[in-house]
Amino acid sequence: MNKKYYGKLIFELSRPGRRGYSLPQNNYDDVLHILPNNLLRDEAPKLPEVDEPTVVRHYTNMSTNNFGVDTGFYPLGSCTMKYNPKINEEMASLPAFKALHPFQPSATVQGALEAYYTLQSLLSEIGGMAEFTLNPYAGAHGELTGLMVIRAYHESRGDIKRDKVIIPDSAHGTNPASAAVAGLKVVEVKSLADGTVDVEALKALLDDTVAAVMMTNPNTVGIFESNIPKIAELVHGSGALLYYDGANLNPLLGVARPGDMGFDVMHINLHKTFSTPHGGGGPGAGPVGVRAGLEKFLPNPRVVKHTVEEENIFGLDFGTEKSPLSLGRISAWLGNFAVELRALSYILSLGCDGLKMAGPLATLNANYIKESLRDLYELPIDRVCKHEFVFDGLADKSTGITTLNVAKRLLDYGFHAPTIYFPLLFHESLMIEPTETESKETLDEFISVMRKIAYEAKESPEILKNAPLETPIRKPDDTSAALNPVVTYSGMPSSC
Ligand SMILES: *Cc1c(COP(=O)(O)O)cnc(C)c1O
Repeated sequence: MNKKYYGKLIFELSRPGRRGYSLPQNNYDDVLHILPNNLLRDEAPKLPEVDEPTVVRHYTNMSTNNFGVDTGFYPLGSCTMKYNPKINEEMASLPAFKALHPFQPSATVQGALEAYYTLQSLLSEIGGMAEFTLNPYAGAHGELTGLMVIRAYHESRGDIKRDKVIIPDSAHGTNPASAAVAGLKVVEVKSLADGTVDVEALKALLDDTVAAVMMTNPNTVGIFESNIPKIAELVHGSGALLYYDGANLNPLLGVARPGDMGFDVMHINLHKTFSTPHGGGGPGAGPVGVRAGLEKFLPNPRVVKHTVEEENIFGLDFGTEKSPLSLGRISAWLGNFAVELRALSYILSLGCDGLKMAGPLATLNANYIKESLRDLYELPIDRVCKHEFVFDGLADKSTGITTLNVAKRLLDYGFHAPTIYFPLLFHESLMIEPTETESKETLDEFISVMRKIAYEAKESPEILKNAPLETPIRKPDDTSAALNPVVTYSGMPSSC
């Protein structure tokens, strides 16, 4: 296991006069006179002065102190931290892609535009949608873009009183946040005890002021919402549109399509379902797909294909005249191209049959862990789950051991903790998503550690309360870290 940490976490390594390079002395006198005075420094910047081995060891040690899916099992529910095949990294790093500039003339980037166009078409096929834009940078950005499309649709029909979005209480926090940013009011709809949305409660909320209903399927407790066709009928009957939060598309890949279920607009988290190492804030991509009739509202620029004398020519459409209803730009350019390339490589290398296996395997793995631990952990929703499920802490509540204690202790055993205290439906949520990429041995090892922790809770609760004991940083003060983050180098420590 991942127990031995070599790196000492010392950050102030600078010593006056240390150098990690040797360059010829520069003589700036020739150019100094052309620089405006106000741009000239009086003093040299206070940069760290460090020799090369110190820099290399510092970063190499830090990289081994970090937890990543390449170092261990990462069952972070809702985040789909699946293993990222290295071929995708290689494809995204090809010099022909890596060295591109967004202002290059289309004629010189035909291959890149074709890759982009191909991914757009594949996602449309996978999602059952008419067209996709790859421009949004993340899931939340996709939600915002999708909701802006929905607003634009209603406005184009002169239906301007629709200012509400209905969102289930189990939804990811980005759903209400995106709705608010899009200028819409959030109305919550309750879930039933079985984890699915209460259709009767939803029906009562639908009227001519509702712009959209946002649904996640499977939802954030990992349960398949089997009433979507009925919900779609009700939503469309009221004149609203149905939005699909596709961050949980993984278990449905190649098995079911949101477009066929009746969704009008959707986003996909490429960085969850289609590989790309993510976490810590990025990078990501949140392409948005729409059903036929809504394409005209999608943002610009778009990649378009013309066929001239049987030859495909790809170009960029910046809109305006041809698409007056387009949202226009929602991102600096065409999204996170390297993430898109990884997704394309992932889809093409797995192929149709491979993609169809991902969802069922992710589902099998999640259910295997659930059934193997349910005697020791409380299972509030006792149903077959999809790719993830939620425990409500330990079954035996008498020990006083919390979900936080369990999560911290897992780090000592070399596993990343599951998502904790989300969803908010339960007090001690512990949300486990193994993904399809893990071997049975890894799952068994995780199960045995989770069982061991449950016994430790009874026999030696103090260990759990003090965990983690083995990590380079013990229990950080989350509140201070958020309130008083120290994220910049402020020069030499005073003792030097
Ligand atoms: C991760 C996630 C999101 C948000 O995606 P980001 O890329 O983190 O903005 C939205 N909905 C669900 C269900 C998610 O799991």
